[in-house]
Amino acid sequence: MPQPPTAPAVGAVPRQAGAHPPVPFFTQARLFEELWPQIERRAVEVLDDGKFSHGRQVAELERALAEYTGARHVIGVNSGTDALVLLLRAAGLRPGDEVVVPAFSFAASATSVVLAGGRPVFADIDPEDYGLDPAAAQRVLTERTRFVMPVHLFHRTADLAGIGALAERHGLTVVEDSAEAIGMRVGGRHAGLFGAGGVLSFFPTKTLGAIGDAGAVLTDDDAIAEQVDALRHHGRLGRTIGDFRTINTTTSLPGYNSKMDDLQAAVLLAKLTRLDADIARRAELAAAYDERLADVPGVLRRPPVGGIEGQVFYVYLIETERRDELAAHLAGHGVETEVYYPTTLPQQPCFAELGHRPGEFPQAEAACRRTLALPLYPELTERQLDVVCDLIRAFHREGP
Ligand SMILES: *Cc1c(COP(=O)(O)O)cnc(C)c1O
Repeated sequence: MPQPPTAPAVGAVPRQAGAHPPVPFFTQARLFEELWPQIERRAVEVLDDGKFSHGRQVAELERALAEYTGARHVIGVNSGTDALVLLLRAAGLRPGDEVVVPAFSFAASATSVVLAGGRPVFADIDPEDYGLDPAAAQRVLTERTRFVMPVHLFHRTADLAGIGALAERHGLTVVEDSAEAIGMRVGGRHAGLFGAGGVLSFFPTKTLGAIGDAGAVLTDDDAIAEQVDALRHHGRLGRTIGDFRTINTTTSLPGYNSKMDDLQAAVLLAKLTRLDADIARRAELAAAYDERLADVPGVLRRPPVGGIEGQVFYVYLIETERRDELAAHLAGHGVETEVYYPTTLPQQPCFAELGHRPGEFPQAEAACRRTLALPLYPELTERQLDVVCDLIRAFHREGP
């Protein structure tokens, strides 16, 4: 029997420093050991099938995710980024259409718009939920605006009611970047299903992570689902999953090659069996962070834990004025942290030609300057969490 992987899929274990255990920013080594029998069985099925992408595991994952999210259609693709590009195209984005995107997000929220032929127009965020501020979005609308893209970051959804109302008033289509939002539900409805559609990313560190790249589109719209299905597979119309022929077949429109690998689907199906338990463990850890960091004066903002509908802790982040010093202090003691995201999207070199100046998106800029993501994953131990919190407390008491 093959040995279970012992090294984390993403993020090396930091060097041992001092008496406490090192705390990697992310690992899923133990989870992999636990799930290995299931993963191995499915991996062997993939090899026996000889169909390595767009095959039976992918079809099964799509059905399982449709059941989990309640979406009428789940279409597996190569990444969350591809899912956004294909969804925007399938939802009717035309060349030059403007899409309102929050200034604070992962690059793909805005680059997907460009790749789909549209123009991202940035608006500031609400500092409470780090999501698009509907009032700020309203101020950047023009006669060319046709879409608005709320992004659900870290642990909660953006203001879907406010953005929905704005879209309604101005005849805009809502496309959600719900790449981080698996498990987030508002009023019983899963993130990604409040407008034309949404996406999921299965990047390894995400709440439901693969062992490489994979993503999916979620939609209740039959026509959009059919388009995405065609676009992911060289423009071939009709459900082609499980179809072995990939050459010499009909191309109805210029599509992409964005099929999902069956090995990724196999891993995701195994992990899906414990997703709700993982989400519950993440909430427990977030509550433990909250309790231990409550009275640390330098920690200016902690995420509210509980009392928020549909909250799922993908990322636990705090805000502090001396973020970079704190990160260096933690790194020096074997604790890895991450900055999501150090630069606003309008300040990325990729959007330099839009000519935005510092100060235009004050909330997004403050978030870029102050937020620090702490280690959060199901196998993080209370002991490790204590180490992180004790170091943060000591840093703010004594200075670096
Ligand atoms: C992860 C992520 C994406 C992109 O997903 P990939 O699978 O890495 O392509 C897009 N938007 C947000 C907000 C994300 O966090």
